[in-house]
Amino acid sequence: MRLIVPGTAGLTRHPLLDFRIDRRFEERHGGLERRVPGKRLKQISKRPTYVDLPTHPVDVPAGFAPSPPVKLVLGGSVAEEPCPDCAAGKRDCDACGGSGTQDCPKRVKCAGCGGGADACWSCGGTRNRGSRKPPANARTQARTRTDWCRRCGAHDMACPQCFGRQTMTCRVCEGKGHRPCDACGGSKRVRHKPCAGTGFFTTFVEAVITHPVQSDQERVPTPAHLWWPTRRAGWRRESLSNATDKLPADLPDTLRTQVEPQLARAKREVARRATLHFLPVARVMVVGDQEWVYFAFPERPETGGTLKVVRRPAKQRVVRLAGIAATAVVIAVLVAWLAVRAVG
Ligand SMILES: [Zn+2]
Ligand SMILES: [Zn+2]
Ligand SMILES: [Zn+2]
Ligand SMILES: [Zn+2]
Ligand SMILES: [Zn+2]
Repeated sequence: MRLIVPGTAGLTRHPLLDFRIDRRFEERHGGLERRVPGKRLKQISKRPTYVDLPTHPVDVPAGFAPSPPVKLVLGGSVAEEPCPDCAAGKRDCDACGGSGTQDCPKRVKCAGCGGGADACWSCGGTRNRGSRKPPANARTQARTRTDWCRRCGAHDMACPQCFGRQTMTCRVCEGKGHRPCDACGGSKRVRHKPCAGTGFFTTFVEAVITHPVQSDQERVPTPAHLWWPTRRAGWRRESLSNATDKLPADLPDTLRTQVEPQLARAKREVARRATLHFLPVARVMVVGDQEWVYFAFPERPETGGTLKVVRRPAKQRVVRLAGIAATAVVIAVLVAWLAVRAVG
């Protein structure tokens, strides 16, 4: 609202708000078919059980920190069954078809020269002697080139591992062309992963109850030019821990409209913690004083509980001012304002 004291000043209300609410909800999901590997009937039967999920009593976690889910087992639902896809936890190896071996190249690229043109500094592996020049630093490397090339016959030019052939006998299979299967290591059988090699599954019906927390806030943020003085102002604080708690009677209507929708009890809400902070702020402009705008708000009760008045330049440029100006006009307007508050 805008209040005019004729001929003196204009007053508008700009109450500040900081409202925060944490709600804890409860969600129940039942009838979840579970199947875990192994013989675990004894172990899972030790878990807490439920019969009728909607009426099953569960404590609401204290506080509003994240809480672990409550897991329940439907009474009488735990059973063990043999794994249908393996024998005693093992299956024939798919990779080798149960043979235990796999194909392997008989010859592979030379590991010494990389199988390229360096196999021989004279022919480069092409049998064409002299078609390739030795590298510039061949003299220092020549010591390792003590073999003659089996391709072109040049002396002291061939890679000592492949003798110019570029390939070498496979070390894994030693040229046999087959090696033990990579997947089963030659044992022909592999551990069946789904049942973790146990040959059994344990089945049961589970329910999971979670208590997620959701936080919301409603704010009328403090403008930067009032941030410092209002930090130590007489903010009103209210704690609202029940949906039936009422907002304070002197909460300005604009803030009430903003906060009220947040107070309704939400679906599946089981606990809440809400804090309301608000600060009445009056903005006063004095006729004939174009330079300054005055802001007034209550002080903390322990510092006297009276009004604090600060002035700020009316222009866009904002200067932090330590000094406080309280003109007689401003005081007169604020007295009028307080009278209005007391009445309505
Ligand atoms: Zn299995
Ligand atoms: Zn091989
Ligand atoms: Zn050669
Ligand atoms: Zn080589
Ligand atoms: Zn295999």
